[in-house]
This record gives sequence, C-alpha cells and structure tokens, in this order.
Amino acid sequence: MATTSATLTKTKPIALPPLPWADDALEPFISKNTIGFHYGKHHKTYVEKLNELIAGTPEADMPLEDIVRRTIGDPKKLEVLHNAQQTWNHTFYWNSMRPKGGGKPPREIAAKIENSFGDLDTFKKRFAEAAVGQFGSGWAWLIAEGGKLKIIATPDGEDPLPTGATPLLTLDVWEHAYYLDYQNRRKDYVVAVIDNLLNWEFATQNLVHSKD
Ligand code: FE
Repeated sequence: MATTSATLTKTKPIALPPLPWADDALEPFISKNTIGFHYGKHHKTYVEKLNELIAGTPEADMPLEDIVRRTIGDPKKLEVLHNAQQTWNHTFYWNSMRPKGGGKPPREIAAKIENSFGDLDTFKKRFAEAAVGQFGSGWAWLIAEGGKLKIIATPDGEDPLPTGATPLLTLDVWEHAYYLDYQNRRKDYVVAVIDNLLNWEFATQNLVHSKD
C-alpha cells in the first residue's frame, strides 16, 4: 500500500509553483531570509502534506481550486481542505506582491477603487485595518463581488473561493510572514507591503478575467 501511495504522489502531484521573482527581490521590505522560510519551508510543507493526504483519493485528480470547493464542509476532509487552502493562498500571495509595487493602480481598477472606497488612500487605510485587526493568524483580501470591490479578513487558512467572490489581492498576516523582519510589529509589515509591494497589475488581471 505504501508503495502505491508513493507512486500516486509522484505521478499526480500538486506542484509548488516557482516564485514570480528572485528570493531577495522584495528587500528591504521582506527579507530573503523570510522568503526562504515562508516559501521554502511553510508553503512547501503545505504542498507536500496535501499530496500525501490526497494520494489514492478522488481529490488526487482534481485541480487545486476544486479540492478546496469539494472538501469544504466535510469534517472528514478538514486536513485536506486546510492544506489545499494554504497551498492556494500562498501562491496567490506571492503573486499579490512584486518589486517596485504599490503606487497608483492601473486605470481599470483605479475607477473601481474610487467607486467602492472613495479614493485610494481610504482603500489603503481600510485594507491595513483589516490586516492588522485580524485576530491571530489569517489573511486580508481585496475581492470583487456583485460589481463592487470589498475588503475582507479570514481566519487561519480560510479564503474567499467557496463564496464565489473573485479574489484580487491578498496579504498573509500569519506571524511567519513577518516575524523575522518585524517581530510583533504587524502594522509596519502591512503598511510596507501596501505602500511598496502590492501588485496592482495582478489585481487588474484578476478583475478583468472575473465576471464581477
Ligand atoms: Fe504564510
């Protein structure tokens, strides 16, 4: 049995995607050391654990998003769900940041931001509040839903996928995302990412391809 599982894991694995930039590209805001642990240990472990759990099960043949949607609400699949969500969330998080990010969003999304939040500064303030205010581990999200942009925060590994809303950007506020660089100063990390690293081009692509 062990041999069969190992074979399945090898033939149909969920992949750990490469980072979209060099591991030191987000310095000085997020260090190479943090990326080394966060991507090379935390994210990698979620992917490996997920592949172990789904080997030989119906989930082994599903795309990652389907695993999340299919296992939600099933108490027997909780561990699969958590590892699938964390695998998906981290890939989305890496893409939500880029070197020389932040700044002014492209026109398509800037109009939506003004429409939904009033102006860019109000969005930034509210996004930071959601990220700082999430009690314990979790995520802050910019999502599109019903023609509007919204900000939400989710605990632990939860994400907006099951609601049908379109995620545009996310920010990881688990301590492992910032503790090596900022210790307990979550707000400093959050503001640094919003001002300097947010990948508005990625958010725009997600918006353009969504039905919202
Ligand atoms: Fe993380």
